[in-house]
Amino acid sequence: MTGSAAEVAAALEARQTFLLTSHARPDGDAVGSPLALALALERLGKTVRLVSHDPVPAPYRAFPQADRIEVVSRVDDACDALVLLECSELARPEIAGLDRYFAVNVDHHVGNGLYGAVNWFDPSAAACGEMVADVVDALGVPWTPEIASHLYLAIATDTGGFRYGPMTSRTFEICRRIAETGVEVAALSRQIFDSFGIGRVKLMGAMLDAMELHHGNRLAILQFDADLLAACGATIDDTEGLVNLPLGATDVVAVALFKRQTPGVFRVSLRSKGAVDVRAVAAKWQGGGHTNAAGCTVRGDYAEIKREIVEAMERVIDRRGAGRIDNLESGI
Ligand code: 5GP
Ligand code: MN
Repeated sequence: MTGSAAEVAAALEARQTFLLTSHARPDGDAVGSPLALALALERLGKTVRLVSHDPVPAPYRAFPQADRIEVVSRVDDACDALVLLECSELARPEIAGLDRYFAVNVDHHVGNGLYGAVNWFDPSAAACGEMVADVVDALGVPWTPEIASHLYLAIATDTGGFRYGPMTSRTFEICRRIAETGVEVAALSRQIFDSFGIGRVKLMGAMLDAMELHHGNRLAILQFDADLLAACGATIDDTEGLVNLPLGATDVVAVALFKRQTPGVFRVSLRSKGAVDVRAVAAKWQGGGHTNAAGCTVRGDYAEIKREIVEAMERVIDRRGAGRIDNLESGI
């Protein structure tokens, strides 16, 4: 761990105007973390602008003030500090002009580049939202139901509905305090996980129909492209979390999902269980993430790329357990 919530809070307290951002193609943590912090800073009378390279996914737009996140590709406004949540590098937001600001970096991704003037990096946090909870406390701001809702969005999504990642007593202490604000936690979970279009359900069927299994059912390969989405009546928002579907089978310990962007360009989402380290696979293609959830962009012929990713995934599946205890296989 580098830095602390106290150092971040001191840097924020000393300043008045802020630009808050997170990574491109935001997930729940990348929406909830900046919004929770924004609402806390505003309780202290500070001025906050929220920006993102990509829109907030549809299910999360129901969360308080989510419509305040402006979609931009560059920024040039004056402000006292830029706060980056969830960003292992200054390039992760994919927004031009960020390099000219006093940067505060709060993140939990292994390999964070410590690129800020102030850095707090804690890979033991289940979500960046856990770190924001500590910053809100360090700022002395009481948790409103709105702040709590965003902390919940961050934690519930980054743990895949409390299934993976480094969950600790701290995770559940934060959740206890979230519930204490009076928010309806079950309703928030329904909003996060069960409020997509019917096209998503059809897309699930199509993707699973075309699923490939490798390595004795331990590795599943999924794919989609714009044509499949259109055929199912689904949007890109409907694809959130579908990469996890094959993990519902005990046999499957890792998944690679290929999302064709343009001919020859694929975003690849990688997921795994236990000690299978998919971040190591993503890193081979200049991507990153966490042990059990990572991503990268790959270019080239689909059959060729798929073969290379399958090989790399099979290697990390085989490597699992070497000198480590695989919680899943020990039945914990
Ligand atoms: P997803 O598969 O949901 O896009 O990403 C899973 C995890 O990997 C997230 O924590 C995300 O931040 C990280 N990730 C995805 N793509 C990239 C990438 O291209 N670079 C880095 N550094 N991290 C990524
Ligand atoms: Mn996160």
